[in-house]
Amino acid sequence: MSCHFHAGLCPGCGQGRLFLYRSADTGTVYGHCEECEWGYRSPDRLAARDGFLTLLDEEDAEPANEEDIRRSAWANGRIFAVRE
Ligand SMILES: [Zn+2]
Repeated sequence: MSCHFHAGLCPGCGQGRLFLYRSADTGTVYGHCEECEWGYRSPDRLAARDGFLTLLDEEDAEPANEEDIRRSAWANGRIFAVRE
């Protein structure tokens, strides 16, 4: 059983959840919308709706784990866990 983390609903489309991924290249943890494929690199960017298209660097990203999130800009935000 694995655990995935998300930061709530995407402000862009209002439909998808922002799942947290860690970029293998930079180590940055970002939120990735499961519906519209937009990403946000921090809660501040999210609040400002300053997103990027995740398709560009999706290939070398992995789901972020608790440790990744604790060390990231998302640590102080509200995080939801989904077990599957
Ligand atoms: Zn979305």
